[in-house]
Amino acid sequence: MKISILTIGDELLKGAIINTNAAFLGEMLLSRGWIPTMCVTVPDKLDDIARTMDFLLSHSDIVITSGGLGPTGDDVTCQAIAEYFKTPLTADEKTSKKLRQYLENGQTKCPPERLLRQAMIPQGAEAWDNPVGTAPGIWFKPQNVNKYICMLPGPPPEQRPMIVNCLLPHLSQMMKERSYSRLFRIACAAEAWIEEITTKILSDAPGIAPAYCATADQVRLFLSGSDEAILDAKAEEVKKFFGNRIIRSDCQSLAEEMVAVLRERGNMQLATAESCTGGMIAAAITDIPGSSAVFRGSIIAYSDEIKRDVLGVSSTVLSAYGSVSGQCVSSMVENLCVKLHTEAGIAVSGIAGPGGGTPEKPVGLVFVAVKLGQRVVVRQFNFPGNRDAVRRSTVAAALFELRSLLLDQ
Ligand code: ATP
Repeated sequence: MKISILTIGDELLKGAIINTNAAFLGEMLLSRGWIPTMCVTVPDKLDDIARTMDFLLSHSDIVITSGGLGPTGDDVTCQAIAEYFKTPLTADEKTSKKLRQYLENGQTKCPPERLLRQAMIPQGAEAWDNPVGTAPGIWFKPQNVNKYICMLPGPPPEQRPMIVNCLLPHLSQMMKERSYSRLFRIACAAEAWIEEITTKILSDAPGIAPAYCATADQVRLFLSGSDEAILDAKAEEVKKFFGNRIIRSDCQSLAEEMVAVLRERGNMQLATAESCTGGMIAAAITDIPGSSAVFRGSIIAYSDEIKRDVLGVSSTVLSAYGSVSGQCVSSMVENLCVKLHTEAGIAVSGIAGPGGGTPEKPVGLVFVAVKLGQRVVVRQFNFPGNRDAVRRSTVAAALFELRSLLLDQ
């Protein structure tokens, strides 16, 4: 069965809101091995919704809509779908009761007729309770048409639990063939390389489909198929090949795994000294709840003066090799760990661009030093892309290098 997504909202087209609903929905469907056929965004207009339904229904069996179920005048999704299938709207008992209760208890300032409008769903449709808001989700199988429509409220805190608790179980039941999937998060590796290896591994298993999703610190590799035994055999081969590059399954990022490992090693203390990333590594670590148990702090040594006066990098190193050098980051990390009394440290310095590059030291040149106990490892990178890409790649590489040292120990 093919699935398509219709995200509805003027704000989405104006760029006022980033379409995170489509991203979340896509990711959730992918986690079950289903990749949506297409995703279209339209304004809150009856005729635009109807026109797009024609197109989506000619390419898919299930259309999932997002947004436009609320009480305001521009919320027209339900009306548009009902009119499209020439189905009258009827009040859903349970939702009407819940909304009346809201009114009686003074829990809303919404005018009653507008509030109660949200209980009107296409005849024969099923309403899914919305524990967080007032608009229910709606599952609708129009009469005499072998298609299915799922309507979800737009606000992400309302939509996400409904996807997990109602939509996915519903779809699982409907899909003729049960689909199994396995997810691997492969750290700091090129998507093209992962694809090449995975294609080889899957060459004798045509029933297993791979899907890839790359971010700066990892590529998510999804394997899905209907034969669980073959899937697990192939998953084992993937695990064996990529080994330590795979982020452990209870963590979602390199930073999360690193914090987990440091905590497991008796709350081993970590600090960072950052030049070109200006605190981004510290931000990635402190994004992780519980990181205070292991993260002591960061020195943002953006200028040479701070590298010299605060971090104690010698003037000789700075003048002989420059601040973007292996010698400089090595000295930064050694002194950092002494100053901040930590066993583990990360130091980075590089040329993020767009200016500042030279033939000897081009934009994208980055040095990373990591320290664990007595071991110091220094690496040189030449990252492609703009300033943002270089800085993000630096964060990922720094976390990856320290994680490698930790897993090596
Ligand atoms: P409401 O009752 O708030 O009107 P609704 O189901 O009618 O809910 P919308 O009016 O389309 O949904 O959107 C409500 C809010 O949800 C938006 O202002 C926005 O903050 C968020 N939202 C809507 N669509 C998306 C989307 N595709 N991605 C992320 N956020 C969204």
